[in-house]
Amino acid sequence: MILLSTLAEPQSFSLLEKLLFSALAIASAAAFWSRFGPIARKILQSKKDPSFHLFPVGKRLWDFFWEVLCQAKVVRERPLPGLAHAFVFWAFCAFALVTLNHCGTVFGIGFLAPTGPIGRFYFYFAAVFALACAVSIVALFIRRFLIRPKWLGAKLSWESGFIALLIFALMATYLGSFYVVDTSPAARILWWLHTLTLLIFLPLIPHTKHLHLVLSPITVFLSRGGFAQIPPLAGDEDFGLVAGADLTQLVTLQAYSCVECGRCTEHCPASSTGKLLNPKEIILGVRAYLNDLGPASDQPLLGKYNSQEAVFQCTTCGACEFQCPVGIEHVPILVGLRRGAVNTGTWEDQHGSKLFLALERGSNALGISPAERDKFIQKQAFPIFDGTQEYCLWLGCMGGYDPKGREIIADFARVMNYLGTSYGVLRKEKCTGDPVRRLGNDLLFQQLSEANLEALAQNKVKKIVSICPHCVRTIQEDWKEYGTPPEIEHHSEFLARHADRLPHPSEDGKGLQGETVVFHDPCYLGRYRNVYDEPRTVAALAGILVEPVRTRERSFCCGAGGGLAFLGEETGSRVSQVRAGELAATGAQTIAAACPFCNTMFRDALAARGEGAPQLLDIAQIAARGLPERTEPVH
Ligand code: SF4
Ligand code: SF4
Repeated sequence: MILLSTLAEPQSFSLLEKLLFSALAIASAAAFWSRFGPIARKILQSKKDPSFHLFPVGKRLWDFFWEVLCQAKVVRERPLPGLAHAFVFWAFCAFALVTLNHCGTVFGIGFLAPTGPIGRFYFYFAAVFALACAVSIVALFIRRFLIRPKWLGAKLSWESGFIALLIFALMATYLGSFYVVDTSPAARILWWLHTLTLLIFLPLIPHTKHLHLVLSPITVFLSRGGFAQIPPLAGDEDFGLVAGADLTQLVTLQAYSCVECGRCTEHCPASSTGKLLNPKEIILGVRAYLNDLGPASDQPLLGKYNSQEAVFQCTTCGACEFQCPVGIEHVPILVGLRRGAVNTGTWEDQHGSKLFLALERGSNALGISPAERDKFIQKQAFPIFDGTQEYCLWLGCMGGYDPKGREIIADFARVMNYLGTSYGVLRKEKCTGDPVRRLGNDLLFQQLSEANLEALAQNKVKKIVSICPHCVRTIQEDWKEYGTPPEIEHHSEFLARHADRLPHPSEDGKGLQGETVVFHDPCYLGRYRNVYDEPRTVAALAGILVEPVRTRERSFCCGAGGGLAFLGEETGSRVSQVRAGELAATGAQTIAAACPFCNTMFRDALAARGEGAPQLLDIAQIAARGLPERTEPVH
């Protein structure tokens, strides 16, 4: 036996072989195009994305390099299967040249000579990847068909099994060619087996989920670029995603890129607590609509293909989008579908209507009279912002009206006083519009953001600090549609900068020495803002930090986002209870929160756990421990 000598290719091909190869290659390419052509047309015929800009391309190139070429996201989120997948991908890349050369040899125009130095090197190089790919594809096959993780779906995909077999055959026939001599019949047989496998594989790509091989690099490169970014509507006639004609090129491209890996569903708080929503099925629902009706259809997107109930169960936590390896942006799609339902009046929900009414008539999502906010400001003796202070302290609906939120604001103000930071609150402040933005009520969101932007401009506010990550996100990102918001930071960022000047438990003698504290990453602070260390710096003032099972980028939602804090009872188990259980399971005496919505959700969930539940504190309350009861604002 010849051990890895050189790659054996037949020396010459008969006319019959050349004709047979040509006919098969044309048939294979035609079968590929018969499916890929219509998909490409559907993408191109979809509505243009009004806010899409190709430039600057720097970030796009980086994402392409990191997520596509390095497969970093795939490996990071599921290391072993991710690495196996990455080897298959890298082998495909290495095989691009090998395959071109392979097809060229039949006509005598192969450009890599097996015995030449370059060809020899390259064929060995590809052989390493072929070996890794063959092992990986067997491992992935075992995982899918024997281990069967639940998020891959209950139904076995025989199509995936057949594709795995073809990929294995491609690698095996290539590697086998190193063990024969080029003049032997075995070399010719291996050449033809490799060729036939290749020509069967090619048309299967667009006919199966392996279409992502072609589309996902483009999807990653062309993504909107911002996390969970909701695009602006394109004028008065744009109501969101109502029918096929509203699907934009990006949405259609993304719908056809889904590889059905189920990562989004695995991490979705709604799916994992028994609700109808399944983000993978939402994307596949859009794809099924496009397959059946096309991008010009006026048939509703919600109904047969996707459920309205499911769409309104999304907390906009962004876990799906963060996990997706092919660049699908679920949040804009889900919010787009909600917009379609709300802006055309087809969403009927008693709690939703109450929320909209509260915000239309009053100024806050809790539906409480603004006079109550005035009383709270007076009672706390908060300075009114007059343009001379460094910060505008944004109260938000929770800080201005919710009893627990007020406690957090009061403690945060006490810390600011202690640190000598000047601040003031606005006399009149409206909800940022976060819940209505995520629920799809664009008109109301516009009214709220414009009114707030005007008030901030009139008061000459330059810098805002807020205890609510939802307010921070909405002010900083979503308001840009209607003006230029002032600079804003979350109180965790402010507090972390000053943590050295705050009393540590060991200093004040009544802290929590030896006790443990677990921090819950709010979705809108972590995944949305990439702020993970700052709140931990502050939480650590309460004791030794421990981490829950799902933490940082993988944090599990509290269930309040996307306007859901204001909607009715959840179906299935409660997201907040699942998360509170995870936090309590760490054995920590204190749960540190950094969002008033998380706080309110956990408050109820912990109360349901009864005696022995950990105490719940916002990081501002932790920072304020050990400070004098009264601290005076700086003037
Ligand atoms: S944003 Fe969160 S709740 Fe909504 S579909 Fe994605 S993972 Fe599920
Ligand atoms: S949407 Fe993304 S994460 Fe979800 S199944 Fe499709 S490819 Fe996987």
